[in-house]
Amino acid sequence: MSDSLTGVVVVGSANLDIVVGIPRLPTLGETLLGEALGRFPGGKGLNQAVASARSGAPTRMCAMVGDDEAGDLLQASARDAGVIGEFRRTDAAPTGVAHILSVHGDNSILVAAGANGALAAADAAADVAGASVVLAQLEVPVEAVAAALAAARAAGALTILNAAPAAEAALALLGDADILVVNETEADELGGVARLHADGAAIVIRTLGADGVELHRAGEEPWYVPAFPVDAVDTTGAGDAFCGALAAALAGGIRLADALLRAAAAGAIVASHRGATTDALTPDTIDALVRGR
Ligand code: ADP
Repeated sequence: MSDSLTGVVVVGSANLDIVVGIPRLPTLGETLLGEALGRFPGGKGLNQAVASARSGAPTRMCAMVGDDEAGDLLQASARDAGVIGEFRRTDAAPTGVAHILSVHGDNSILVAAGANGALAAADAAADVAGASVVLAQLEVPVEAVAAALAAARAAGALTILNAAPAAEAALALLGDADILVVNETEADELGGVARLHADGAAIVIRTLGADGVELHRAGEEPWYVPAFPVDAVDTTGAGDAFCGALAAALAGGIRLADALLRAAAAGAIVASHRGATTDALTPDTIDALVRGR
């Protein structure tokens, strides 16, 4: 990493999550009355940017929202969490929306990518300038992710790809990702860790929920970190917290093994609170868990 580079840029999605509680899924043509359970900032990109900022790193976000009230709401929530700068805006599409249908605790989720789908490759490449760590997921066009990772690499930044949701297109990006982060399902969907190494991923981090996390370096034995024991109340967003905190720690010059511990602590903190993000995530709460190990 070059010394003139600072902070984290997260390239990814920003969505408004609209949660409705319903007794069962509606059938086609049916109107069903549900309970409005709230509107929350979401999208993997925004969740990860918030986690990075709350973990203590100067964090910017390359995101596209619509010229609408939802875009204002997401921008304000990012700013409140400490994310620096403005999102890109388009009047060609509305802000991305995730409709979350909650049926007795199980979710069916319908995502309309909206403005996220309008993030252009050239803009993504421009937005990563100056970052020491660039973190991306796969909820924005793959061309934008590819351009951002390539530009970041060329500028000497460290690049992290969270291949979520898992898509074959991720395999073409491995050459420009220094670190690949996947959960168990994503690792399986992409053909397993050995295949990911064979396709060019030098470092694969596989998260295992409450079972912890594995660090796989090509040609070496995996290194295992157990999860921090916490009372999990809602594991939504644990993976996003993990990725954001990992990027923040690495941008702060922390070596990978210690950054992994901080990331696992962040995942545990978010899992022990309701919602995909929590203001209980701070550098101090991460320190406290890591020191207690
Ligand atoms: P995802 O949300 O992408 O499926 P995981 O569930 O694997 O990701 O969670 C990411 C990381 O967060 C885990 O590797 C672990 O360190 C931490 N974590 C997740 N769930 C828990 C839990 N119930 N208790 C403690 N830590 C957890």
